[in-house]
Amino acid sequence: MKNIEKFISETIEECQGKFRKIDEIALFNQQKVLNAFIDCGIALRHFAGTSGYGYDDVGRDGLNKLFARVFNTEAAVVSPLISSGTHALTVALFGILRPGDAALSVSGRPYDTLQDVIFAKGNGSLADFGIGFETVNLTQDGDFDFRAIEERLMSENIKAVYVQRSRGYEWRKSFSVEKIGELCRFVKKIRPNMCVMIDNCYGEFVQAKEPSEAGADICAGSLIKNPGGGICPTGGYIVGAGKYIDLIAGRLTAPSVGCEIGSYAAGYRNFYQGLFLAPHTVAQAVKTAMLFSCAISKLGYEVLPCAEDDFYDIVCSVKFNDPDKLISFCQSIQTASPVDGFAVPEPWDMPGYSDKVIMAAGCFVQGSSIELSCDAPIRSPYIAYLQGGLTFEHGVIALKKALENL
Ligand SMILES: *Cc1c(COP(=O)(O)O)cnc(C)c1O
Repeated sequence: MKNIEKFISETIEECQGKFRKIDEIALFNQQKVLNAFIDCGIALRHFAGTSGYGYDDVGRDGLNKLFARVFNTEAAVVSPLISSGTHALTVALFGILRPGDAALSVSGRPYDTLQDVIFAKGNGSLADFGIGFETVNLTQDGDFDFRAIEERLMSENIKAVYVQRSRGYEWRKSFSVEKIGELCRFVKKIRPNMCVMIDNCYGEFVQAKEPSEAGADICAGSLIKNPGGGICPTGGYIVGAGKYIDLIAGRLTAPSVGCEIGSYAAGYRNFYQGLFLAPHTVAQAVKTAMLFSCAISKLGYEVLPCAEDDFYDIVCSVKFNDPDKLISFCQSIQTASPVDGFAVPEPWDMPGYSDKVIMAAGCFVQGSSIELSCDAPIRSPYIAYLQGGLTFEHGVIALKKALENL
């Protein structure tokens, strides 16, 4: 027990240099977010709830303006009516693509819950509407396969390039904004009008720039991850060029009304306050992931990112090569949860996933993975994905539980 505590404090000491870099990014992003609040004239009246159509809902309009300002885009749709990250990405894809078009994923297979959105038959997927979707796998060392991408871009029906910034349930590194910028420049040299769309889940505020500031046309994500700051109760966002956001808003509600309707009776305070807290909360989560990565690699497990890597999302992957060890690790994280800490998570058939998934998430907001959480599809090589943590201190305590268990 004493040994574990000593081991943890030594590991924290080793991480100090990297923690300072994270603090600098958090300070930069906090200033950026604060400036946006001031520039947008955010006031108490923006927090009020609305009913019915939500005409003149200043809370909704203000939030759209604020996100557009923070992500440095022409426009945004931010809404509690977007139920999840998957929903945000789906609405974006259906908004910009038309029958006969195709999208090209250049980061390999998209996230699990998008498989049925894209490929399934008879459920209203993109495929059902005659919209194609092609995939270019990453190279051996996890980079974009620029040669293969160039070749595929020759095909006229490709109307959007799709990039998943974070790793999803894959054993790979996440992309830096700089790398995504390089890709955007490459794509636009070949097809200047191509729409580059980013699955931005888990990436927001990890770096000082967002993909939308590096050439991406659309970014989408979940508000119960990074940009909700840990207190946003639900929702998703899409930011980007005005012409795309108009099309996407028309899909989210109806083409005749777009962003002009949509009410929310409970009010928007937690959406605003969550965005304000997000730079700090994300820093807590990145530190937590970094600490886990450092500590667990010292025990001989393979982790991603490695201790010496930079972090481009809030996740730490641990490869167990053994389902029982994986499940037990997730369960040990649950025992350190403030909510449902007494529960024992089991793998189950979660909606949208084809493998059973175990999810340790003793969270204040159901399934919120900017809160400390650990999940995994039950498939070889049995990788746990640990992310979140509203406070670094909570991460330290959870690590202690995990190490006792290991
Ligand atoms: C979380 C996540 C999503 C969306 O998941 P939801 O559970 O629907 O919010 C999509 N892509 C990636 C990479 C993710 O991490």
